[in-house]
Amino acid sequence: MSSTAETIARDTPATTADGPAVLISGLYKWYGEFQVLADVNLEVARGERIVICGPSGSGKSTLIRCINALEPFQRGSIVVDGVSVTDDLKRIDEVRREVGMVFQQFNLFPHLTVLENCTLAPIHVRKMPRKEAEEIAMRYLARVRIPEQAHKYPAQLSGGQQQRVAIARSLCMAPKIMMFDEPTSALDPEMVKEVLDTMVSLAETGMTMLCVTHEMGFARQVADRVVFMDEGQIVEINTPAEFFTNPRHERTRTFLGQIL
Ligand code: ADP
Ligand code: MG
Repeated sequence: MSSTAETIARDTPATTADGPAVLISGLYKWYGEFQVLADVNLEVARGERIVICGPSGSGKSTLIRCINALEPFQRGSIVVDGVSVTDDLKRIDEVRREVGMVFQQFNLFPHLTVLENCTLAPIHVRKMPRKEAEEIAMRYLARVRIPEQAHKYPAQLSGGQQQRVAIARSLCMAPKIMMFDEPTSALDPEMVKEVLDTMVSLAETGMTMLCVTHEMGFARQVADRVVFMDEGQIVEINTPAEFFTNPRHERTRTFLGQIL
């Protein structure tokens, strides 16, 4: 995990608990000399489902990693659920507790069972009694339809099952926002649907979701808005209907032509 010490948040807008789920204003980030994000502005309403797409290297992962302070940024501001993402570690912990994150590579702890993966953070971060944490974990494992795998180790599960455990594990922390970074890209094709189905049913619960994905069927089905990024910038934000049939920008058209 990178240091957040160099994070500078300026002009942090005042927000209240009933403000947007996420507010990104004038965000810039460099890796050394390389500008990876340039003037990114995005307001995500509570309960909104956002799909972020764009060519490889366009800054999608970097953007969502900035939201939960996995990456520092140099200019602009990010406010998550009224809390400014700054270099204040206490605030970063506050933000991370509210934001669940699911990665392409599952990132389960290999030496812990499925159930232990799910109860670790609730017990150690939320200080929840073990029994209660296990009950909650079993509830979420049932929701992602793998309660029978609770006592297995990650390596004994298929990729699709591991990714569903990763989703259940995040949900056990009762996040207000769920972020996904290409959650189906590492999966064999026959396992993509089971993970997408899980995400669709999560969307139906009203969860605020930011999903980096190229699964355009998912975008059509659940996204309130689609964000298209290219070269570190948001090129287009549109409804799925407009995005797919009547994109505003040439670059969006080119991208859609390549993936559809
Ligand atoms: P995406 O998720 O859209 O594929 P990324 O956010 O991963 O894009 O990367 C955006 C750009 O930043 C790419 O050009 C990538 O090579 C570069 N990049 C990503 N991580 C680092 C890093 N830790 N150091 C330097 N450059 C990086
Ligand atoms: Mg990426």
